[in-house]
Amino acid sequence: MASFVCLNSITSCCSSPFSKQKPFLGGSSPNAFSHALTSSQRSRLLLCSSSSSSSDNSDTIRLRHPAQMSSMAPFGVTMNEGGLSRPSHKWQRVLLKVSGEALAGDQLQNIDPKITMAIAREVAAVTRLGIEVAIVVGGGNIFRGSSWAGSSGLDRSSADYIGMLATVMNAIFLQATMESIGIPTRVQTAFRMSEVAEPYIRRRAVRHLEKGRVVIFAAGTGNPFFTTDTAAALRCAEINAEVVLKATNVDGVYDDNPKRNPDARLLDTLTYHEVTSKELSVMDMTAITLCQENNIPVVVFNLNKPGNISRAIKGEKVGTLIGGTWNSTVART
Ligand code: UDP
Repeated sequence: MASFVCLNSITSCCSSPFSKQKPFLGGSSPNAFSHALTSSQRSRLLLCSSSSSSSDNSDTIRLRHPAQMSSMAPFGVTMNEGGLSRPSHKWQRVLLKVSGEALAGDQLQNIDPKITMAIAREVAAVTRLGIEVAIVVGGGNIFRGSSWAGSSGLDRSSADYIGMLATVMNAIFLQATMESIGIPTRVQTAFRMSEVAEPYIRRRAVRHLEKGRVVIFAAGTGNPFFTTDTAAALRCAEINAEVVLKATNVDGVYDDNPKRNPDARLLDTLTYHEVTSKELSVMDMTAITLCQENNIPVVVFNLNKPGNISRAIKGEKVGTLIGGTWNSTVART
């Protein structure tokens, strides 16, 4: 696999059930609307737009406004029981995509425990801040269906199912690492393996996140001929996460292969169109298109630089942003 990320596809945002609603004020967008409100008005609105708050969420009630599902200006407000709002980070709920290749680290083994522990520690730090983290893991460090299809009569679908099983191995490894340092974590698989993980149930996943658990989505989309990048875009849209954070082994998206071209430039931002039209290999076309259609921003960043995962999750400027501008998406201080 190429060691640099070329432009091929990415974006940001979320198709929440809310996004289909009419704006609350005549004709204004959710973002414009949110900016027009005082924080106490927002607080009341958030309470009104709540769909549920169950008794097992006793410490805080986190309610989401449609604008929080937007890539450009989610104003995330977390409510406590007294109805007071407190400043929040740029993203309230993120989808972190970790490729199998990134998990492999120095490649001596399929999974490098130092990498999984580094991920666990950084995710732990941000979940303590109240940011909800869902993870989609790849499986390319163990098995990539497209590379094996055709070998010894292995058809593509069978090869892809093996690839999906590989993602489950990574997910269980990551879960065990997370839980070893006290992060409550659930694995949900796209097809049933109920002895080892929960089946994917969207509402249940959201509930876990609201309770502060990390949810790892395994087995991709559950369908052959897809990738875990597409699974990341799909799950992001389904659970109303605000961004796909794609952790890779390189610093972001370059305008050329930096290994071959020392003058290759790391790009700050890209549009979805630039990714697709220039065929940059950021994500496969299905994944980037899904992100574009649902206004899901994508941040591509280097997993191997200490602190990068938590910086990306907190919405700080790191790597390359697709489908937005840093000014409008960087965490507010
Ligand atoms: N896969 C699949 N459907 C999916 C996701 C993954 O068939 O929805 C298979 C496919 O064979 C793929 C393998 O699982 O090669 C591992 O996923 P991927 O290559 O996306 O992992 P990554 O490159 O992120 O490590």
